[in-house]
Amino acid sequence: MKSVRFGDGESFQVGKILCLGRNYPEHVKEMKAESSAIPVVFLKPSTAIIGPGENIVIPPNSGDVHHEVELVVVIGRDCRQVASDDAMEHVAGYAVGLDMTLRDVQADAKKRGLPWSVAKGFDSSAPLSAPVRRALVNDPHALPIELRVNGTVRQSSNTAHMIHRIPEIIAYCSTVFTLEPGDLIFTGTPEGVGRVVHGDRLDASIAGVGSLTVGVT
Ligand code: MG
Repeated sequence: MKSVRFGDGESFQVGKILCLGRNYPEHVKEMKAESSAIPVVFLKPSTAIIGPGENIVIPPNSGDVHHEVELVVVIGRDCRQVASDDAMEHVAGYAVGLDMTLRDVQADAKKRGLPWSVAKGFDSSAPLSAPVRRALVNDPHALPIELRVNGTVRQSSNTAHMIHRIPEIIAYCSTVFTLEPGDLIFTGTPEGVGRVVHGDRLDASIAGVGSLTVGVT
């Protein structure tokens, strides 16, 4: 089982991984997609998680694996149909995540109207940093977010640009799924997504939350 462990020793087994699509306007544009008034949500299995220092393993069915750096919310309390005003009380903390995506497989699925699970949920598709407590993050919607590949900045934005903000995301998700301690929500990626190849080194960081380095093999 995969788990997330806070610096104070408390740990949660990872449950569901909910992910937001199309949640930064410039990323919606670069994907030539349309933004959605309702959050776009998809799932990854917990087996997708890898930790700092591990490697993303490119599966044999793809030649176009993309990085997407994202702020991740760690749920700390059960919630179902929570109001957005109360949603933040259910957040244990935050982490830095990568929503690795088989862009060619996803594009084919979109074209044929099929689900994204294979493109988004493969083993090692969810690199995750150590988490930080919610109380240590003053405003999760004002955080510089960056991804470097081999030292070159590929994604650089700020969580201020999220279309659907965290309380709204939690409230919406909790109308569909009971959220439980250890569930994760990947909150979407800003613009600058791109391909990684064997041997690359990815450094993801969110100011005030943490950083994450992984390789690609
Ligand atoms: Mg994403």
